[in-house]
Formats: sequence, structure tokens, C-alpha cells
Amino acid sequence: MLVAIRAATVVPHSAAEPIEDGAVLVEGSTIVAVGPWRDVAAGAAADDVVDLGAATLLPGMIDCHVHLALDPAAEGTTTASALTAAQTALLMEANAGKLLDAGVTTACDLGAPGTLATTVRDRIARGEVEGPRMLVANAPITVHGGHAHAMGGEATGVDEVRAMVRLRASEGADLVKVMTTGGFMTAGTHPWEARYSVEELAAVVETAHELGLRVTTHALGVEGIERAVAAGVDTIEHCGWVTRDGTRFDERIARAIVAGGISVSPTMNSACLPQDYFCPWDERDHVVDNLRAMHRAGIRIVAGTDAGIGLVAFERYADGLAVLADAGMAPREILAAATSLAAQVCRVSDRTGRLAPGLDADLLAVDGDPTLDHRALARPVFVMARGRRHALRPIPGLGDRAAQARRIQQTLRAGADRRP
Ligand SMILES: [Zn+2]
Repeated sequence: MLVAIRAATVVPHSAAEPIEDGAVLVEGSTIVAVGPWRDVAAGAAADDVVDLGAATLLPGMIDCHVHLALDPAAEGTTTASALTAAQTALLMEANAGKLLDAGVTTACDLGAPGTLATTVRDRIARGEVEGPRMLVANAPITVHGGHAHAMGGEATGVDEVRAMVRLRASEGADLVKVMTTGGFMTAGTHPWEARYSVEELAAVVETAHELGLRVTTHALGVEGIERAVAAGVDTIEHCGWVTRDGTRFDERIARAIVAGGISVSPTMNSACLPQDYFCPWDERDHVVDNLRAMHRAGIRIVAGTDAGIGLVAFERYADGLAVLADAGMAPREILAAATSLAAQVCRVSDRTGRLAPGLDADLLAVDGDPTLDHRALARPVFVMARGRRHALRPIPGLGDRAAQARRIQQTLRAGADRRP
């Protein structure tokens, strides 16, 4: 079955010239042609034509950091879940569908209990459940009693962490997530303090790379960021420059991140918007300034949201892109962070992140021109994931969240043993 999708503008790649009156031809789950409508239409007789009118057609977006197993409405922490494994799996499948509503057709799950994430990934891949392509870490590797330990990835010492990496590989995980510092969501773990030695982290990286797995790390504090860089991780999540009482960007470490070819997924999201700001790291101006400094230093930045944590809804992916814009990233840079660059960093650029023949049919159409204004990316009008068209549901508003936001920030700061 050949489907031609026509739009007033097609942007095949974050750096590409727009194609006016363009089209993408899809056969099954694969893109077979991209170009001006007259060429695509002349080249093949499509069984079906989807005319998107004035919309802009582009590659589906990528969220480099989600937690399908968390419920944003629960205002939760990572310490305990009242759900059974079967209930959690259902929640994960529902959340996966919500990512499609945002135009996200690939997502990395960076922490779920046990092996639920690989199971849900495979159900989506088989077409039993609707959702984006999932790349999953299963349970993050963390010190005994460390951040998110309840998910099942406790390991301390070189031998234990190596064994845990091998276990992830045997589970079929796509990547390894290691908790280099404590986190705000697990009481008593101190986000500003490093949790593993460089030697332990290097053992994680070495073992994972031997097994062909990418390593990403949760690193909030400066000390942990520095150790993760020394150990040669592939990606840093958050990279919050957190100290005991605020944040402190470090130019020298930033240069080492660039020199090491390490990418950063700063997990900007709905919590970082100016209205009802509740990111617990620091004041908003400081958090945005740190992001701006990383961008200026030449660090490769990709979009990830940490969706699933309190009040960070899966459908509101574009809120994080708005924060990247506040930090000085241009619309084309934001588009790259959400598509082509993210695909490279997640090692799926041979399948998605661009519109080109042979790649998977991961398509998004939006109202407006995202090469001129990132806000267009908050207005999806058409989504197709691996050739399957998604029936879009409206993206929920932020709502009246002031009281909840304040409560979450207090919980997280208290959990981190910080001044309220
Ligand atoms: Zn996370």
C-alpha cells in the first residue's frame, strides 16, 4: 500500500531547504520518496493521498528522556509505587500513546522497574500497542539505597556494576543508564554529591561499550558531572551543575564535555516554564543561564523532558523546546535537537530523524513554520509512527498548577535535604 502525504511545505531535515508543495511517499512502514508533489505524484500511483493543506511536514520528534512508568498526576517520588507490575505496564502503554499526541515518534525510557520497559518496547514494535519507537534502559544502575533504587538496579563496586551492565544486555536493553549523583526524587540521596567513583563509572562504560550499548548518566551535581566526563560516558542527562545550595556552571568541565564528544540532554520541561516555575535545582534565571553557557561552549544539546515526573505531562514535550529557545537556541538548532541530532545521539539516525527514502515513516506535520518559530512544534496536526497514522488527541493545557507546583518543589527540595 502506497500512501502519498502532501503538504504546503516539507522540511526533510533540520538543516534542509524547505520543499514548497512537497510530498512524502510511504510504503508500509518505510519512506520511499521525498520531494516536490509533482515529482512524487508522477513517480508512483499512490493508493491513498493525505493532503495536509497549509501544514509543514517534518520528521517525527525524539524525546531523549522519559519515564513511561511514572504518572505525572501522582506528584510522586521514585521510592515506592502502589501499582502492580501489570498496572504499571498498562500505565506505560497509555503514556506511550500520549507521546504520539506531542509528535514524538521515538523516545528513550531511562528508568522503569525491572524489565517492564523492554516488554512495552517490544509490544509497541510488534504493533500490539500504539506508541513511539522506544529505546530503553530498564532499571537504572545505582548505588545501594541510591537514586531510584526501588526500580531494581542496585550495584556497588566494579564487579557488581559490570555484572549489572551484562544483565541489562541480556535483558535486551538498548542502552545503559547509571546514576552518577543522587536525585531530588529519592529522599536522602543528595543530588549535588557523586555516588560512584571514576573507576566504577569507567567499568560501566567499558563493559557497556564491549556489548555495543550506549551509556547515559543521570548527573545533577558538578562533582558527578566531572566524574562522568572522566569515565567517558556517551550522554549526560540533566547536567544541572547542582551544588548544595544552588547551581554553579563550570567552564573547565564544559570544555571537557565538548572535547570528550559527550552530548547533553538537559531535561528542560514544563517545570522550567516561567509561569509556576518549579524546577528544584535553582532559580529559573540561573538554570536558563547555565543552559545558555553550555550552548555557547559548543556542547551538543538534545531534547529530553523527564516526562512522567510530577506535572511533566507526556503530551507537553514542546514546553522543553520553549526553554531551549529562552536559552538562545535558534529555531533550526531546536529542530535539530528534537530530530536529526537526537537521532544521532540515540544511534537511530539510520532509521529516523530525517525524511529520506529507506528510513522509517516517522512523520509529523505542524501548523506553522518550525524553521522560523519553534512554537510551531507545539501544534501537531498529523502524526505517523513507522507508517502507522495516529489519531491525535488535544494536548492538555497547563491548567491551574500553582499550588501543586509549589508543593512539588517543596517535596523535592526537602527530599534533597535542602533549604525549603
Ligand atoms: Zn529521569
